Amino acid sequence: MRVLDRVIANSLPFVPKPIVRKVANRYIAGETLDEALGVTAALNRNGIRATLDILGEDVENLEQAQRAFHENLTLLEEIHRRKLDANLSIKLTQLGLKADPKACLEFTGRVVRRAEELGNFVRIDMEDSSCTTDTLQIYRALRKTHANVGVVIQAYLRRTLNDVSSLEDLHPNYRLCKGVYVEPTEIAFQDMAEINRNYIRILEKLLRNGSYVGIATHDELVVREALRLIRELRLPPTAYEFQMLLGVGEQLRDMIRSAGHHLRVYIPFGSDWYAYSVRRLKENPRLAGYVLRAMFKNAG
Ligand SMILES: Cc1cc2nc3c(=O)[nH]c(=O)nc-3n(C[C@H](O)[C@H](O)[C@H](O)COP(=O)(O)OP(=O)(O)OC[C@H]3O[C@@H](n4cnc5c(N)ncnc54)[C@H](O)[C@@H]3O)c2cc1C
Repeated sequence: MRVLDRVIANSLPFVPKPIVRKVANRYIAGETLDEALGVTAALNRNGIRATLDILGEDVENLEQAQRAFHENLTLLEEIHRRKLDANLSIKLTQLGLKADPKACLEFTGRVVRRAEELGNFVRIDMEDSSCTTDTLQIYRALRKTHANVGVVIQAYLRRTLNDVSSLEDLHPNYRLCKGVYVEPTEIAFQDMAEINRNYIRILEKLLRNGSYVGIATHDELVVREALRLIRELRLPPTAYEFQMLLGVGEQLRDMIRSAGHHLRVYIPFGSDWYAYSVRRLKENPRLAGYVLRAMFKNAG
């Protein structure tokens, strides 16, 4: 990231929310269920799968967790009713992981059960490192009774290869990503080349073990290495899929699709857009240009 982009990334907490919203619009499908399902239907028409995420995290009480739980159930029903090719991505801290872990397991289990009844699938997003162990434990508990649940692992964490080994008996359905939270060097690789090497090392292990992998990245180098592995292991397109975020890497997305690989787009929506938007903006290599342009347009 260039110096000005880095300065602006660090100053984002001071950028007025309407400006953040304007620049982050491309990453979010809207505030309502209808808007998100409209975006989903449009992607489906182009042969692209979706995973829907109701924005929100770190709820402080059971009431908020319960609200998120009901919203997820409604979302599942609507996906089914509209016959969309979409599953669910959930964050455990939105379902009460920090406020009440037992209730979180109960809510998550009920979402997964309803998804199972509707023939759908639930992916548990991975949050910051304070959640990793609990998230993997909840995943293991859910797998005792349900097969339609998957989890995310992060290539920047030093522990991930071990985590993958300890979950091997479950043959999990994974999403593999680099990891987006700021973590200290004791637990996370900081150097991008090292993160990429670990990504490919983990991916190779998972694919060789027969795990289904959602290869979540917009990094052309990583995509190319993944394609090399897929060719080398002679994997059918049913053994994996590529995954990208709404509003990112659209050219790469088209390249992957036209080469015959499955692709899923992560579609976040809802009123709680701020934390997600800031994470996306910080990853945007042209952040400064977008923010400054939006500020001047607002001023003019
Ligand atoms: C489907 C999906 C689900 C994810 N789920 C999780 C999760 O559960 N937990 C978690 O910690 N992280 C998650 N992530 C985020 C992930 O960890 C990375 O932070 C993010 O994908 C950027 O990494 P990258 O692999 O694209 O590589 P990078 O090297 O960061 O990016 C590669 C290139 O992509 C482009 N790019 C990346 N981000 C942006 C952006 N915001 N705007 C414009 N261009 C951009 C740039 O050109 C960049 O050079 C998810 C990512 C995806 C795609």
